[in-house]
Amino acid sequence: MDLNTVTDLVPTADPADWREGDAWLAGGTVLFSYGSQTLRRLLDLTSAGWPALTVTDEGLEIAATCTIAELYALPGTVDPAVRQAWPALDLVRRCADSFVASFKVWNASTVGGNIATSLPAGPMISLTAALDGTAEVWGPGGARRTQPVAELVTGDRRNTLAPGELLRAIRLPAAALCARTAIRRLSLSNLGRSGVLVVGRLDRPDDGGALVVTVTASTRRPVQLRFAAGAHPDAAGLAGAIDAAIPADLYHDDIHGLPAWRRDMTYRLAEEIRRELATTDGGRP
Ligand SMILES: Cc1cc2nc3c(=O)[nH]c(=O)nc-3n(C[C@H](O)[C@H](O)[C@H](O)COP(=O)(O)OP(=O)(O)OC[C@H]3O[C@@H](n4cnc5c(N)ncnc54)[C@H](O)[C@@H]3O)c2cc1C
Repeated sequence: MDLNTVTDLVPTADPADWREGDAWLAGGTVLFSYGSQTLRRLLDLTSAGWPALTVTDEGLEIAATCTIAELYALPGTVDPAVRQAWPALDLVRRCADSFVASFKVWNASTVGGNIATSLPAGPMISLTAALDGTAEVWGPGGARRTQPVAELVTGDRRNTLAPGELLRAIRLPAAALCARTAIRRLSLSNLGRSGVLVVGRLDRPDDGGALVVTVTASTRRPVQLRFAAGAHPDAAGLAGAIDAAIPADLYHDDIHGLPAWRRDMTYRLAEEIRRELATTDGGRP
């Protein structure tokens, strides 16, 4: 794809350098495939040199410029003690596998680029929202803010990033990484984009014991249902919570699935997840 209105490639991750007509460039798999008639400059974030992945006692920090391939490698390369302590790392590869693309795309495209693109089928949105990821956002004038990924993405290709703001990192808290998880995904075709992707998370009793169900891909934006310990739902309770949280017009409608199908499958997959996690939490099967 020619970007023949672009005249400059600027290596910077400083929002002070941003001006109208600029776009942050990460892996370029969207920018160079969708094209643009209006962009003047690309601000190359890959020049920032941010460490892709940082493990701390508080959790995992994922740089916005971390590629899908780097994240995919993490469960196999992290310290075995950390791997054992964080069973929710299982979700990393399941979500990355939902990103049905070639190794070339996986090696270039980034976690931040995926979230900033804000497609309903954004697998890094599914992963980081389900694990209560918080985005660190840098803005012009040295502004810094944080926001849960589940709230940062507000619709199909819509998010709260203002012009000139960039995603610096996403932090996944250790408590969520220590949780048991279950995931279900459906696509209309074998190698198709996700039409429905639901993740369940059962926090350890020490971490509050909540059950968190995160719906993505079927809805225009992530939807999270939280049930405190002692208030985990039965099947009817879960269906009622989905009814209340997802109005009919929030189900996404595109070539990857009709809203009615996405809706039916959301109920079905969420119930499968509820049952799977209930088998170990003493909850109601
Ligand atoms: C074959 C193929 C299959 C794909 N499948 C999927 C799929 O299943 N699901 C899906 O969601 N996408 C899919 N994509 C789209 C795309 O590859 C991903 O969304 C990818 O993660 C985008 O990341 P990137 O680093 O390449 O972004 P870029 O192309 O560099 O940027 C994309 C957008 O995000 C902005 N941006 C990038 N980084 C930041 C940042 N740190 N802060 C603020 N803004 C930023 C850019 O300015 C631009 O507007 C697919 C693409 C291809 C080519």
